[in-house]
This record gives sequence, structure tokens and C-alpha cells, in this order.
Amino acid sequence: MTIRVPWHTRKEEAREIMFREDLIGRGIKDAAVLRAMREVPREAFVPPELAAQAYADQPLPIEEEQTISQPYIVAYMTEALELTPGDRVLEIGTGSGYAAAVLSRIVTTVYSVERLGTLADKARKRLTALGYNNIVVQEGDGTLGWPEHAPYDAIVVTAGAPKLPEALLEQLATGGRLVIPIGTTSFLQMLIRVRRRGENDYHSEELCPVRFVPLIGAAGW
Ligand code: SAM
Repeated sequence: MTIRVPWHTRKEEAREIMFREDLIGRGIKDAAVLRAMREVPREAFVPPELAAQAYADQPLPIEEEQTISQPYIVAYMTEALELTPGDRVLEIGTGSGYAAAVLSRIVTTVYSVERLGTLADKARKRLTALGYNNIVVQEGDGTLGWPEHAPYDAIVVTAGAPKLPEALLEQLATGGRLVIPIGTTSFLQMLIRVRRRGENDYHSEELCPVRFVPLIGAAGW
């Protein structure tokens, strides 16, 4: 006989396993990132019928044929941004709002742009209901950035781009970091970190292969 244990009684255990094995076990070290990942309830960002899978290390489908990224990748990209508490961060691709919530636990303000109005609205409502009050969500084409609030200390793009969007480079503060998946096919990319070292001085490095939904827009697909 199989006894089914209700999901909510296993939630804390699932979260701890994700934390120990998928984050610390795979090399995430930044204490602020680990604290944020432990604090944000991923189950509140996935469709209710998938809540039991919220702490498996995998992307999950959300509305509009989009995805919430896997926990390890969210932690990895957040760590790669090398955040400090006073930073202003721009996220492109709000999706469920989960990564924005993680970022908001580390820095002062998060600006997040989402192309699809239904997702932007839903994420905004969800983030407000959960009490995240330092995140501003805007519907729009994130390949153009969000010039009104620039420059940003860190910019993270959570969809795969065919090339580096010029506007994002321009909106990066000197000393700022841009983390973005770039690929010549729309579903397989290399994660790139670009550091702005001066007015016209950018240094780029490859971090790891990743797989994201496409970044669609004027400077995207
Ligand atoms: N960060 C999200 C989360 O934590 O749930 C996951 C993002 S999902 C992998 C990628 C998102 O990028 C989708 O919601 C998609 O609609 C959005 N997107 C694609 N192109 C975009 C663009 N040009 N500007 C803003 N958002 C875009």
C-alpha cells in the first residue's frame, strides 16, 4: 500500500534538499544569494497544480508557454551579478516574478520588464500579495532596457538573445555587470557576463551553456 504524504508536510524537506544538494552542492557560495534562495517560496510562483514540484531543480511551465527557471540557474545567475546591497538591478523577463523576488532580497530596488502583459500583471499582483515592495514591474520590450531608471549596477536577462542588446550595454553603470544568455539558435545559449569598465570599455566572459526561451523584441529574435 502506498501512503501519500500531503505536499505541505514535505515542503520544508524538499526545500532543504534543493538548498543542500542543488545549490550548495553545485557550488553556489554567495551567502546573500543562498539566504535569498532559502527565503523566497518558489511554490508561490508556480501554477498550483505543480506546487509539489516547486523544489525539484528544473524549470516549470507557467502561463503563455513561458517558464520559471530552475532554482540552480536562478542562484547561479544571481551570484554571477556580484551584487551588493545598494545596487539597482534591471531584470529583463519577469515571467512568474520568482527571480525578481530573489534579487529583491539582496538589493535596494529591482526593475523588471516583461514583454507579455498578462504575465507582467500577474507577477505584479503576486509580488505585492507576497509583500515584495521594492520591485517595479513594467510591460514592455526589454531588449530596449528601461532608460528612465538607468544606469543600473546589474542587468540580468532571463531569456535567450541572438546578440548583445546595445541599449542594455548603454544602460549599464561603469563597474556594472550584465548577465545574459546569447545563442545563434533560439533555445540553446552561452551565458555571458559583460563588465563595463569605462565609458567605452566592456569586457565579456563566457560562464556556462544554458537553455532559455527566446528573447523576443527589437534587439532580440
Ligand atoms: N525570470 C522569470 C522567472 O523567475 O519566472 C523566468 C523568465 S522566462 C524563462 C523568460 C521571460 O522572458 C518570459 O516571461 C518571456 O515572456 C520574457 N521575454 C521574452 N522576450 C522579452 C522581451 N523582449 N522583454 C521582456 N521580456 C521578455
